[in-house]
Amino acid sequence: MSSRIFRPGDRIPMELGGEAEITQTLGQGGQGAVFRASYRGHDYALKMYFPNKLKNPALFRENLQRLCEQGIESPAFVMPLMLTADTGEGFGFLMKLIPPEYAPFSDILNAKVKLSGLYAIVNSAIRITAAFRELHNSGRSYQDLNDGGFFIRPSDGNVLICDCDNIAPYGEHLGIAGKPGYMAPEIVRGEKAPDKLTDRYSLAVVLFRLLLRGDPLEGSKVLKSVCLTEDAERRHYGFEPKFVYDPEDDSNRPVRGVHNNIIKFWKIMPDYIREAFTYSFTMGLFQPEKRLIEKQWLELLIRLRSDISACTCGAQGFISGSERDPDGKVVCPCGNHYQPPLALHRGRQRILLFEGAKLFGENVEPVGEVVRNKVNPGLWGLKNLSSGEWSCTLPNQQEKQITPGSAAPIFNGTKITIDGDICEINGDIG
Ligand SMILES: [Zn+2]
Repeated sequence: MSSRIFRPGDRIPMELGGEAEITQTLGQGGQGAVFRASYRGHDYALKMYFPNKLKNPALFRENLQRLCEQGIESPAFVMPLMLTADTGEGFGFLMKLIPPEYAPFSDILNAKVKLSGLYAIVNSAIRITAAFRELHNSGRSYQDLNDGGFFIRPSDGNVLICDCDNIAPYGEHLGIAGKPGYMAPEIVRGEKAPDKLTDRYSLAVVLFRLLLRGDPLEGSKVLKSVCLTEDAERRHYGFEPKFVYDPEDDSNRPVRGVHNNIIKFWKIMPDYIREAFTYSFTMGLFQPEKRLIEKQWLELLIRLRSDISACTCGAQGFISGSERDPDGKVVCPCGNHYQPPLALHRGRQRILLFEGAKLFGENVEPVGEVVRNKVNPGLWGLKNLSSGEWSCTLPNQQEKQITPGSAAPIFNGTKITIDGDICEINGDIG
């Protein structure tokens, strides 16, 4: 099969009839190129493969066909929608375009783009984990989890996952090798094909990079390899992987001046997050079945979101990871010591009520936000961002209805019924 070079202006016949017209080249990768294309009056992204770069083009096309038909419920996955006709000159598929407000994960990791704050960071981690949970529950794996596949909206941490053409049922391997640093050690060693357990390893790497902004296996030991040859890479990520914060072995610790992010962020992470990563990159390196499952990560990440607090200087932090003074006040890096805020408790969840704090519903959509009263800035309230009415009982037993758009006054002892849940505000932040 010969590979044709496609250009703007080319018209590609689609399997279901009609033609997609290429209007712009968007990017090129190892497997193929991605274009903007117009089909039946709508704009799409069109991915065209170089068939000579695919190990088994027929199997690949068959899998794409299945992906187009089955799809996946989670809106986070940008799935193939429709195949091009098989003309013998290469084939591809249409998918949705990534809206311009989304940034590639790699731009966020190298600090070209900044997420708006800790909510956006933790919510993007929650979205990625929830999407993979759904994928794995449907009996499929992603096979090639790495920083090239994600796009994140910096304002709120919404996530779109691309490169979904490699998604396949367990046991089927499409010949995707994966990206160094993200692949599970057993894949690097050539012992195993990608599956749910290797996806879980890659997920832990993605979460580590998102929260700590560095590589969990790259420390002083790796730096000693003058250049990272393929041999050295196989050793560091496959045969002798060593977590940078392995509690039993400090031979690969992060190096000041090189791994400053990890050093800084590791310190401010709550213990339960440090423990989860330590487990993932010690036990989980060699015992795939012991890796954390998505549900465990989700619980930890929702807890992490409930630990977000802020100083009046605007700096945000996780209260469980914060330094406290002898009076129990939180010590902000700006030098300020502040009283921990009141907290709203909803079942096992809680949020700390600082200005701008958000209460989230089942998913990552905020249902409430802490605001100051415009007339009396000393009064704080929880603004109802949902479409339903809340009822509220103030500490003096006065009852109030909180319609969407209005705010429930925040006092120690206020009770608010949100979507049937009785939530209580108090100073208990333990
Ligand atoms: Zn501060």
